[in-house]
Amino acid sequence: MSILRQRLENNIHPAVKQAREYGLYPYFREIASNQDTEVSINGNRVLMFGSNSYLGLTNHPKVKEAAKLAIDKYGTGCAGSRFLNGTLDLHVQLENNLAEFFKKDAALVFSTGFQSNLGTISCLSGRNDYILIDELDHASIIDGTRLSFSKVIKFKHNDMKSLEKQLSRLPDDAIKLIVVDGIFSMEGDIVKLPEIVTLSKKYGGTIIIDDAHSVGVLGQQGAGTASHFGLENEVDFIVGTFSKSLASLGGFVVADQTSIEYMKHQARSLIFSASIPPASAASALAALEIIKSEPERMEKLWSNTNYTIKCLKENDFDIGPTESPIVPIYVRDNTKTFQVTQMLFNEGVFVNPVISPAVPSNSSLLRLSLMSTHSHDQIDFVIEKLIKARKMIGFAGLEEQVEIP
Ligand code: PMP
Repeated sequence: MSILRQRLENNIHPAVKQAREYGLYPYFREIASNQDTEVSINGNRVLMFGSNSYLGLTNHPKVKEAAKLAIDKYGTGCAGSRFLNGTLDLHVQLENNLAEFFKKDAALVFSTGFQSNLGTISCLSGRNDYILIDELDHASIIDGTRLSFSKVIKFKHNDMKSLEKQLSRLPDDAIKLIVVDGIFSMEGDIVKLPEIVTLSKKYGGTIIIDDAHSVGVLGQQGAGTASHFGLENEVDFIVGTFSKSLASLGGFVVADQTSIEYMKHQARSLIFSASIPPASAASALAALEIIKSEPERMEKLWSNTNYTIKCLKENDFDIGPTESPIVPIYVRDNTKTFQVTQMLFNEGVFVNPVISPAVPSNSSLLRLSLMSTHSHDQIDFVIEKLIKARKMIGFAGLEEQVEIP
């Protein structure tokens, strides 16, 4: 066996190896249907509680129609980067609508949310500058910092004392990017934006929020975390994705005109990657319109969220500080997390197991994601199955809670 193959074999995540050995491997499950609150897997109908389609728009007739019309008019792909031959009038229209929606000067559409973070974070600051990130920020933020020449500093999760301690040590004349998730993607808590704004002003920082999970979920008409706190003018950059509430694929950043103009010519993940296909741009455009015109979807999402959190708390599940449609159920043991995932799956419920490195090693969890299209009956069903799984497999309730590091 080659050295590489040997190394790879040895380096497979031990929890994944173990899951395979026990017949509990829970990843890459093949879905053979459209994705709404129910999906078809291996010929069985399964309730979907692992989707990021918070507003349930991936099957909205207007979104589907927009995608079909775009294919008819523009074809299936752009065959090039935005920078060269890959900019359609549709992309520009989408950018104009995004800028207006987020009350910023301008927007730039990337091929994914991941690439939006990579491109934005890596190109703004230089060698003598600093990027401060929350320790629980998304992987694409971390990878963005790795592509930057700036020094990277982590602060404790949503801990403003920790952020201030770090900021207070930095030179006045350096750029200090503070990059945070709006809603944290595994824990479901909301960033302490008002406090970050105060600190950023005090120490001359620049705020970048990743609103992947907040668009369509928080703020006026779903305009995200800054809007939720009424701080649109204080946040410098909002990065987002079309792959969650916006029912498509792609990503974006909105900011002031100068920054966007700069990024158009410096963000490598934009310049050296093909633009999103016409159908993706058109479906994101249509979804954005629906978010504005059907506010009842966001209301239903929150009714489902509040109902689920209430039921889980009443049943003594350890769900941490979540305050959003992302509801983690802490199991705190990899094998048990896989066991519960499989048991739920066998009972007809799809949830995502999350283990280290996506979360700290003692924080493995089941990640329940709510959609506006779920019914209370479906939620009741999941909770009943969770209670059953906890009885059979046995994992920590609130009374045995371990402190999250
Ligand atoms: N940021 C966060 C917080 C995310 O959760 C994700 C996707 N999981 C991304 C960025 C990347 O978005 P995309 O799927 O569009 O690449």
